Amino acid sequence: MLNTAHHEAMVIRGGRVIDAAAGRDEIADVFITNGVIVAAPRRDALVLDATGLIVCPGLMDLHVHLREPGQSHKETIESGTAAAAAGGFTLVACMPNTQPPLDTPDAVRWVIERASEADHCKVAPVAAITKVRGGRELTDFAALLGAGAAAFSDDGTGVEDDGVMRSAFERASDLDALLIQHCEYKAISAGGVMHLGEVSRRLGLAGLDPRSEEAMIERDIDLCRRTGGRYHVAHISTAKAIDLVRRAKDEGLPVTAEVCTHHLMLTDETCANADPNTKMHPPLRPQSDVDACRRGLLDGTIDCIVTDHAPHTAEEKSAGFLKAPAGIVGLETALGVAAKAMLAPPSSPLHKGGHREVVDWPRLLSWFTTGPARVLKRRPASIEIGTRADLTLIDPHSPWTVNSHQFHSKGHNTPFDGWTLTGRAVGTVRGRQVNRLLPDSRPSSIL
Ligand SMILES: [Zn+2]
Repeated sequence: MLNTAHHEAMVIRGGRVIDAAAGRDEIADVFITNGVIVAAPRRDALVLDATGLIVCPGLMDLHVHLREPGQSHKETIESGTAAAAAGGFTLVACMPNTQPPLDTPDAVRWVIERASEADHCKVAPVAAITKVRGGRELTDFAALLGAGAAAFSDDGTGVEDDGVMRSAFERASDLDALLIQHCEYKAISAGGVMHLGEVSRRLGLAGLDPRSEEAMIERDIDLCRRTGGRYHVAHISTAKAIDLVRRAKDEGLPVTAEVCTHHLMLTDETCANADPNTKMHPPLRPQSDVDACRRGLLDGTIDCIVTDHAPHTAEEKSAGFLKAPAGIVGLETALGVAAKAMLAPPSSPLHKGGHREVVDWPRLLSWFTTGPARVLKRRPASIEIGTRADLTLIDPHSPWTVNSHQFHSKGHNTPFDGWTLTGRAVGTVRGRQVNRLLPDSRPSSIL
């Protein structure tokens, strides 16, 4: 249950303050007065005991489906942002594949207004690249930016037409706007329900060719080279795709990439259980691609971790593996799954060859804070004196068990139900506002 309260003055006492942007990692108190971080506490400040907790700048998720307008049976801006806050996020970027799509300034403003009414976290709407996401005619980028669009994407589909995408790059370059591509040529991926490979052949299921992802990235990097527009690969998922981005970055092109938590954790072998909650887009890949995703984060090719939070109703997901819509919810499991995947135990393939890559909490949190800020070309949130409080509090030690029925999201479609994870947000602070998540296993006095 998310409890929200407002306080004029607060002391967050004794937490491990991790601020990736400032290179800070120490046990310290954080003082907040009138929503701003200050040097000394006010005498009447409310004390929040953060002993044993991590205090860090608010987490960001650049890839979320809030489903409104038009699909409030799956999720609403209210329920989706409550789920985000419960997962420790203070900012989410929401995708425009709603009904109607976010392709007009009014639609963008509508989302921002609903989010501000719900007041659980900040929402940065991503506007459509093309009208009705039809892939033919560009939207009015300048007007959409003016209304508050954070970036442009036709997510759910890729922009396939070379000429249209070239025009999008030219316009993005002129306006210093960010293009986020869902990389998929439908002609190549058509009919596939899971990754095309050994497992799909064994299960006798139609495979989805990874070339559909890689070919579009290849074309787009070429367009980026010729136009200079900023380009971000959504939910990157194959070793070859990551190599393409690695080379583009080596060239100095303005290319960035994100990876989903599930692509760091699950392989296509998981689909053998025929659970519709293992069906997603891009699909779960073989272990070699999962390892490549982890390495891509470690060497800086991939900038940030996202959820691709995609709620569907239980009824929709009960249609069986072949017919059910692709996608899973992720906001309330992201931190724990990312910690499980990346805070590598000695048995992890990341330790192959006796070389131990040390991923600690500061590094892990950078993929949710400074990484996404870099993609958006924004100054990352920080815990510096004089800045507005925008914080996440995390319990890094207590194991907890995922129970999808306790989600704040309307969607319960997760393959992680019943998993035991370690690492969970226990609250966020936004200005004067404190959102407290109080799982049953924690005493209510902790926050
Ligand atoms: Zn997508």
